[in-house]
This record gives sequence, structure tokens and C-alpha cells, in this order.
Amino acid sequence: MDNTYGYAGKILRVNLSTGDFTTVPTANYADRFLGGRGIALKIYWDEVHPQIDALDPENRLIFISGPICGLPGFAGSRWQVCGKSPILNQFSYSNLGGAWGVQLKFAGYDGLVISGKADKLVYMVIDNGKVELKDAAFLKGRGAIDTRHVLKEELEKSFCVVAIGPAGENVVNFATLTADLDASGSSGFGAVMGAKNLKAIAVRGQGEVEIADKESVRLLRKEVRQLKSEPFIWPSILPQARMKKDLCFGCINGCMRVKYHPEKGRAGKYCCQSAGYYEIRAQRFYGEVNDVPYQATKLCDDYGIDTRAVETMMMWLSRCHKAQILSDEETEIPLSKMGSLEFIQTLLYKIAFREGFGDVLAEGTINAAKAVGKNSEQLITDYMIKTGEDSPYGPRMHITTGLLYATEPRMPIQQLHEIGLPVLLWALRENGMHDTLLQNNYMTSDVIRAISKKFWGDEIAADFSTFQGKALCAAKIQDRQYAKESLILCDFSWPINHSPNTQDHVGDPTLEGRICSAVTGAKIDEQGLNKVGEKVFNLQKAVLAREGRGGRDCDDLEEFNFTVPLKSEFGNPGCLVPGQNGEVFSKKGQVLDRGEFEKMKDEYYQIRGWDVATGLQTKAKLKELGLGDIAETLQNEKLII
Ligand code: SF4
Repeated sequence: MDNTYGYAGKILRVNLSTGDFTTVPTANYADRFLGGRGIALKIYWDEVHPQIDALDPENRLIFISGPICGLPGFAGSRWQVCGKSPILNQFSYSNLGGAWGVQLKFAGYDGLVISGKADKLVYMVIDNGKVELKDAAFLKGRGAIDTRHVLKEELEKSFCVVAIGPAGENVVNFATLTADLDASGSSGFGAVMGAKNLKAIAVRGQGEVEIADKESVRLLRKEVRQLKSEPFIWPSILPQARMKKDLCFGCINGCMRVKYHPEKGRAGKYCCQSAGYYEIRAQRFYGEVNDVPYQATKLCDDYGIDTRAVETMMMWLSRCHKAQILSDEETEIPLSKMGSLEFIQTLLYKIAFREGFGDVLAEGTINAAKAVGKNSEQLITDYMIKTGEDSPYGPRMHITTGLLYATEPRMPIQQLHEIGLPVLLWALRENGMHDTLLQNNYMTSDVIRAISKKFWGDEIAADFSTFQGKALCAAKIQDRQYAKESLILCDFSWPINHSPNTQDHVGDPTLEGRICSAVTGAKIDEQGLNKVGEKVFNLQKAVLAREGRGGRDCDDLEEFNFTVPLKSEFGNPGCLVPGQNGEVFSKKGQVLDRGEFEKMKDEYYQIRGWDVATGLQTKAKLKELGLGDIAETLQNEKLII
């Protein structure tokens, strides 16, 4: 790399076992892997041996930003945490908002790689170039939000803090990290941080990042502002009057990210899935709207527990209770009062501190069901995927998403959104709900077909009555999304595939490449950027293959997709989709055809340049992508054709 435009220039490495700090130039990685997920994957590939356990000190916890981070006006300041996740004991990732990643970059570091394990609970302070490890005994057992506030008092308010709660300290399988603005990271990385005896990382920086072409950046910012649609209106049942916008650093015009001001107690982030996970149950229990759903969200953020994992767990607990497999007395959790504050407080406390039945639940629902037995394992087989998550925008309805689920280490929400959100908007419009989610919703069948042509490879991808064009669509989405995750552009703003301000309401797929060029000085267009995405995706595939997830049998879906008829879809109870020429039809009651799915995989492997019979990557393809070194290792391990 000739210059470091767009980058702080260094990656900080901290070994908690020895207390050593070193740095490496970001340029060692950025030329080939751009930033974000790309760089994290290369570090992971080089350093995390496939046999290492997620909770082993030798696992790495990789905090990483991208080249757009720190530049206002692009919604590009999100950051990621990657490493081996304890959920499936394989590589995974999480993506966070707020401002912590920006502070790390302004402190002089594009990333932070943590290895080893401290011999007692510590927290890290990164104050510009100065790095220290400090005793965290006084923070033991404290919530992640609480820890953040205590450290800001101890240090200064200008520090951003990412912390774990008691769930992370007690290595709960689905423990999260919580940072400023209540940004939360999943995939069980709170447990990895806990296993390393690292309670928190406080960071502050006053540096700046040089960009290559200021004038182009200014014009692009303007262009993005003109194209961008209004933020989605999140359909929360809680009073909108108590919500105030609370945007991440450098956002374009926001999503539904708000701060909720409850009647009593501290205000905090309330948006998206984490906001909705207890709303319906609480409303049903109390027969009215109150602040309990907000409190439930904050309890998860503070204990450091993944709301999505709790949501799917509650479904199982409720079924077990109804089937008299689990009782209030036996679990010492008021299962009969699900929806109440008492229930969620007890459940989360017991999980976070591994108390009583909470110790069983702390291993995740799938493991808990195995431990409970009594046929309780059967009660999750119609909705839960192997990571303990549910499967929004599933393949029984969207077809394409079958490939996205089958080839990822977790529920890939960013990829799912690219196709799921336009379909959701289209369905809302069809149902006469023109102002739900998006004001003056313009997502007609013509618009969705035009998006398909420009972004998904062919119009046919927007015809959900056929498997045709879906393999290409999946590959296109993945390549674009892996480039996006390496730049780290926010999922709620990118790609801009539709717009209220263009004649055909279709957005512009060239923007990301132009922004990357203007910021870094690299000459990269849409195709070039997607090629980087393809490279990063292939690197992830290689990582997963080494961890036992290589080949066609591993690229599979949970059985319910093929056997359990589709009942409903989020925001689209009739399961409506556009068909040929945009006519409306319903997928309600349908399952995914296994034979067609396998044929779609064949086509997908062909498009990917992988071996169709085995689903393994090929040496030729990896070499073409500049991954010859990766191919050699895979060849030695007989994981490539
Ligand atoms: S769109 Fe929302 S999540 Fe994305 S950067 Fe803006 S405020 Fe943050």
C-alpha cells in the first residue's frame, strides 16, 4: 500500500498473559483485505488454530474498524468484533454501532487484537498512544452499562467504553459486549472476553485520519444525502413521545435508533429486534403498554445477554411449561408469569450468574433442551437454527436466503436485509399500509424488479415463484455485503438500492466503490469492490472449512425449512411475495423443495467457481482471487479441489 489514506495506520496487539503491547502496520493487510471483516478474517486465519477452543487463551478477540470509520456523512463508522465464537466453537462476527470504533481509530489504531488471558480481572485503557491494563476487581459482578458509567467517572467522560456484564464474566454461551450508546455485540463474544479476564476497554483518541480526495468526498456526501430515503419508522408499541433520535457517529440521517426515556430510571437505546423482544409478551401479561419491554431490553444490555437468544429461549420455555415439562417450582423461575417484569428479571439474573436452572440455560437453548430431555428437544425443531437464533426472512418465502443461511456461520442479518426489506416494503404497500415503516412507500412490483436487475443480477431474482436467478442473486448479495462489512458501512443505510428521489426509485450500486476510492485513493469501481467482497467471502469459507464446515453437506438448512409449512412472516402475515411479472401470491403453507434447493446449490457452486460435486473451493478460483497462499494450506489439509 503506497499510502495510508483512510486508515489510522496501525493495529494494536495486546497479549493479556504477558501484558505486552505491540503494533503492526495496517498496510500488512489493507491492500488485500481492505478493512473490517476482511482484515479480521486474515488475522484469524493466520493466528487461530482450528483446534483451539473459543474459551482458550489462544483464541483472538479482534476489534476492527474500516477505512470509512471516522468520516461523517456516510454511516460508515460501525465496528466489528470477530473471533472464535463459543456458540458453535467456530469463527463468527458481530457488528456494533455507537462511537467506540471511531475512538479507537482516533487513538491511532484501525484494530485491536487481544490474545492470552489475564491472571485476574482487568480493564484496558487506551488513551491516544498510551495503553495500560488495570485491576478491575472493583468492577467484578457489575453490569456492562454500570461499568461504563463507573469507568467514565474514574477516567473522563470523553472515553468510550466497551464492557461485559456478569454474563460475560460467567462465560454464558450467548453473552454480549455493550458499548457507548448501548451498542451491543453478539455471537457470544462477551464470554470470550470473560474467559480472558477482560472486563472492559476504555478508549479515547484525538487523532485524525487523512483522506485522499477531500473534494470528491464532499460531493459524494451530498449525493448520498440526496439519494437516501427517510429513516424507517420502527413500529414500537411504546410511546414515540418518549423517544429521541440517538444516532451513531457520522450517520447519514439515521434509522430507527432512538434513546427511550422511561418514566423512572436511566434512558437508553431502544431499537430494532432488541427493543421488540419482550413487547408482545409484556403487553399480553399486563393488558396495557408500560415500560417493562424497555426494562427487559436494558436488563439484557446490562447483564450482557443477547436479546435474540433470550427471545428464542422464551419460546421454548413457554412450550415446555405448557407441555408440563418444566414448572415454576422446579426451575425457580416464574414461567407462568412470562411477560411480567418478575419473570424476565429472574430469568436473566439466573442466567447471568449461572444460578440454579440458570446454569443449564446459560449453555444456550439447544444444549439446555438436551440436558432437560423429556422430548423438550422436539419443541425447538420448527423455528430455531443451530446458533440458537430464529430465521427471519427465511427461504420458504424468499428462496435466495436459503443459500445465505446455508453458507454462513450465523444468521446473516445484513445479507438477509438486502432482499428481505424491499420485499417487506412491497408487501406492506400491497396490504394498503403505505406509511408503515416508510412514508409514501413507493416499492411497487416494477421498482422491486428494477432493483433486482441492477443489484441482484437479473429481474428474475424478484420473481419468487421460481428458483431461477436465485443462485446468482445470492452470490451478488454476498459479494456486495462482504465488501460492505470490510468498509464497514451501516446495514440500515447500505446498499442504497432504492430511493425516493430517483425517477425509477432505484438506488445506485456504484456509490460504495466511489466512496472507497475517494477516501483511500485506490482506484476501485463497483466490480472491483465486489471482487474484494468475493475474496473476503472466500477467505471466510476457507476458515469455516478448516473448522469442519467445508463441503456440500455442511451448506445445509435446518429440516423445518423442508417439512414445516410457513405460517407467517414478520410484518407480512399473509406471506405475500411478487411472482412472475409482479403478480401477487402467497407463500403461506409452503415448504422449500429439497430437490430444487440442491439444484440451486449446484448452480451457486458453479457461479462461485467451486467444485459442484463436493461444494469445496477450487485452487483455481482461490488463485484467481489472489488467495493462492490460502489454497496451499487448504490443499495440505485436503479441503480443496
Ligand atoms: S443508520 Fe442507525 S445504526 Fe446505522 S449508523 Fe445510522 S444510527 Fe447507527
